[in-house]
Amino acid sequence: MATDVASDKMNDLAAQHDVAAWERIREKLRQTYGDAIFKSWLKPIEFGGVEASSVMLHAPTRFMRDWVANHYLETIRRFWQIENGQVHQIDLIVRSSAPAPRPVAQPTQSAPSRAVQPSRIVQENDEGSLELNRFSASLDPRYTFDNFVVGKPNELAFAAAQRVAESEDTVAGCNPLFLYGGVGLGKTHLMHAIAWHIRRTNPSRKVMYLSAEKFMYQFVRALRFNETIAFKEQFRSVDVLMVDDVQFISGKDSTQEEFFHTFNSLVEQNKQLVISADRSPSDLEGLEERVRSRLGWGLVADINDTSFELRLGILQSKAEKLTDTVIPYDVLEFLAQKVTSNVRELEGALNRVAAHASLVGREVTLEHTQELLRDLLRCCDKRVTIEDIQKKVATHYNIKVSDMHSGRRSVSVARPRQIAMYLSKQLTPKSLPEIGRKFGGKDHTTVMHACKRIEELKQQDTEMVEDIEILGRQLQS
Ligand code: ADP
Ligand code: MG
Repeated sequence: MATDVASDKMNDLAAQHDVAAWERIREKLRQTYGDAIFKSWLKPIEFGGVEASSVMLHAPTRFMRDWVANHYLETIRRFWQIENGQVHQIDLIVRSSAPAPRPVAQPTQSAPSRAVQPSRIVQENDEGSLELNRFSASLDPRYTFDNFVVGKPNELAFAAAQRVAESEDTVAGCNPLFLYGGVGLGKTHLMHAIAWHIRRTNPSRKVMYLSAEKFMYQFVRALRFNETIAFKEQFRSVDVLMVDDVQFISGKDSTQEEFFHTFNSLVEQNKQLVISADRSPSDLEGLEERVRSRLGWGLVADINDTSFELRLGILQSKAEKLTDTVIPYDVLEFLAQKVTSNVRELEGALNRVAAHASLVGREVTLEHTQELLRDLLRCCDKRVTIEDIQKKVATHYNIKVSDMHSGRRSVSVARPRQIAMYLSKQLTPKSLPEIGRKFGGKDHTTVMHACKRIEELKQQDTEMVEDIEILGRQLQS
């Protein structure tokens, strides 16, 4: 009995020791790879325990496990060995604490996403009834759920799109499903993904996808050729109608009217509608109130601007599909940091890097990439001014902008001022004396001191690290 207690105690102590070791290792990883990488890839890894010579670590997703295994595992193992010479192996396994979105079943060999030529566009008329062909647009075989990378900014839209695609029927509460977000963030991709999924799993459901522009064009044509009855019938016979970019309809009265009638009659027949726009229903101008409010009846899901993690994930997934070019990690990270506007631009940048490498037969390196993308980056790099920084930081810390120029020394004012100086050094090309001048004519040594002080504080104060990250991101977006 006594020995049991003693051995339990020993085990407890050993476990505590291991947890503390893991904490130290995490800190070393943060210092080695920097905050951004640490936050994206290493922080989510959880410690599972040590058994004999193996350390168990848990990754929340398969994607993350593979990435960490490929890039950081060796370093993690080395750090463990320094802590505990017995450790020779790291077992990194997937164990999510929160349920991840359910993965869509892999398509079969003949399914569209497996198309050999990734850029081939399949015409809609290879399936579905003839009547539908006239109005439906073509679907891009690359735009499937499998090829869509999910992150915080798009998870709601993705989950809702999957629900609609997987359901046998109209989804209560999601009718219409209204997807909105800026250009190039994946609205069209998700709509095509819904269409592909339904065609594969439930081919008897009639799906129609078209842009609002095409809807209008067809409508005007039908009017001219006296085919309005047929026009209406086409739309009313579908099970799922998807209209992309409805902001296009705003201001066009008769199209709006027809769209509204079609919309109403489909909703009354309990058919599923999926609509997209570049802004929310309430922000759609030039749209009649009744149309606007109808659009907002179901689920309104926004797709937010991409985060660094999502951009990196998307790049990684796209880079994996490049068969003849290997893109090193630092290049992916560089692109994810620099090309922040939207996913289309991000893809464009990656394709340019890959195409160039294969054309000139040169390995992809960070240096070549920086050179190649200089033009592209110039337009993406939003110029941040010191005035912007002062304003943003002052608002964030609830002080007056004039305090940025003052000599007040109380910490509540001096610290934000130092942060603003630090950000000015980081985000603008200005020299220390120039920065000093903008802060009420301070000496360059004051600026230098501020930058040093903030660097020091960042080592101890995670809240400050986060504040600075958020401010930096907001200023650059
Ligand atoms: P939108 O319709 O919102 O303007 P698209 O759907 O056309 O944007 O997306 C632009 C490009 O970015 C497409 O090539 C699409 O495949 C890609 N894309 C957007 N979001 C994602 C994502 N989350 N994962 C993978 N690719 C994406
Ligand atoms: Mg689109």
